[in-house]
Amino acid sequence: MQLYQNQTIQIYNSLSGKKEKFQPIEAGYVGMYVCGPTVYSNVHLGNVRTFMSFDMIYRYLKHLGFKVRYVRNITDAGHLENDADAGEDKITKKARLEQIEPMEVVQRYTVDFHNILNTLNFLPPSIEPTATGHIIEQIELIKTIIDNGFAYEVNGSVYFDVHKFNESNEYGKLSKRKLEDLIHNTRALEGQSDKKNPQDFALWKKAEPQHIMRWPSPWSDGFPGWHLECTAMSTKYLGDNFDIHGGGMDLKFPHHECEIAQSEAAKGVSPVNYWMHANMLQLNGQRMSKTTGNTVNPDELLSGNNKFFSKAYSPSVIRFFNAQSSYRSVLDLTDDGLLASEKGFYRLMDAIHSLDDLQAGSISTFNVSEWKQKCYDAMNDDFNSPILIAHLFEAVKVVNQIKDNKASLTSEDLDVLKQTMNAFTFDVLGLINTSQSEAGTEKLSGAVELLIQLRQEARANKDFALSDKIRDELAAKGIQLNDGKDGTTFSL
Ligand SMILES: [Zn+2]
Repeated sequence: MQLYQNQTIQIYNSLSGKKEKFQPIEAGYVGMYVCGPTVYSNVHLGNVRTFMSFDMIYRYLKHLGFKVRYVRNITDAGHLENDADAGEDKITKKARLEQIEPMEVVQRYTVDFHNILNTLNFLPPSIEPTATGHIIEQIELIKTIIDNGFAYEVNGSVYFDVHKFNESNEYGKLSKRKLEDLIHNTRALEGQSDKKNPQDFALWKKAEPQHIMRWPSPWSDGFPGWHLECTAMSTKYLGDNFDIHGGGMDLKFPHHECEIAQSEAAKGVSPVNYWMHANMLQLNGQRMSKTTGNTVNPDELLSGNNKFFSKAYSPSVIRFFNAQSSYRSVLDLTDDGLLASEKGFYRLMDAIHSLDDLQAGSISTFNVSEWKQKCYDAMNDDFNSPILIAHLFEAVKVVNQIKDNKASLTSEDLDVLKQTMNAFTFDVLGLINTSQSEAGTEKLSGAVELLIQLRQEARANKDFALSDKIRDELAAKGIQLNDGKDGTTFSL
């Protein structure tokens, strides 16, 4: 018997605005699509948070025994985020700037994306389709939407007719917007567009002469609109109606709204049963933004090479930090928060590493089966990982009590505790088993960083006797401080 047969998951569905019992279309199988990265620059840490949350969800579904087909696309065809930006898409712009081929840009940043995700211990999706690999499917989809009367061609470009669609369907049902309000809030810019109405969106754009990425189509040499690729690829691999569609909150409108419209217009069915959205990542209480400089790249966070954090953080600490908030809450990245997560992570590791040395007792003073179900209940409640972590720490407490002879578990209960702690920590949360010595090195480096900081303060106060003492005493213990232009580093 598979675990999913006695665990009932509730998923918060953005479409209905409430938690619903998860019932897959086909028992035992889950089809899940998540909007992937646009590979024209380094992957944004906010996007990594979204993908990390869905990695955990994917892991939990697999842990329960579901056969999951997880599709996460790569947006490698330049897309129009704003139709006023007609002609030159983002990928081409960047390529022109760097004087290289668009597909070279795509290749570089796709590799970069995979490297970051591998480092952070992500499971690869089952299928990772690219937009450029599915141009034919996208053209076929446009033909169907035109045939069904929901799109029109003007000067070689094709637009989705939102007003026509809204007569028979409901545009805005996911993002809770009304077309009348959208009309009211949009200023019509005369002569700027071929569109009948400003709310219409491009399915196909005719390429300007300078546009490098282009494909032949019945309407013009051009390229597909961005929203289209997700409809084409999700339905190709998961069916016209599938279980879960995820993405960042910022994609709800217009991207996901347009996906629903395209699917309903082409296939006459609503594409997705459960829409899931991961919330934003902030940095020090503020929105991350390249323009204000309040931003940090994933590799800068991992290397410690940035101006926001006191040290480098390991992949597991970053994953642990992410899991300490619900995927639906805004997550605020701070040095204090990461330091606290680091402490918590090593406490959990210490407990897990001592599990094998624990002696079984003749009785159990802790109800392990009740505790185990509480771990499942947490994840069954819309993947509530912070509550799961609270239960894992309840187990850490018990482990430490057993070590101090203040609690005991029978060997049967001890086995269940071990299995459950390992399964949730490594299989579901995706943390990497970090040995005591690695943990020791990590702790040592934290202590040395603190001494370096104290030495800097001493120097700033012109207390050179103290600053020299710190350096010399560390050297005597085999830790060499190296003063450089960008601060002080150390080597063992
Ligand atoms: Zn998408």
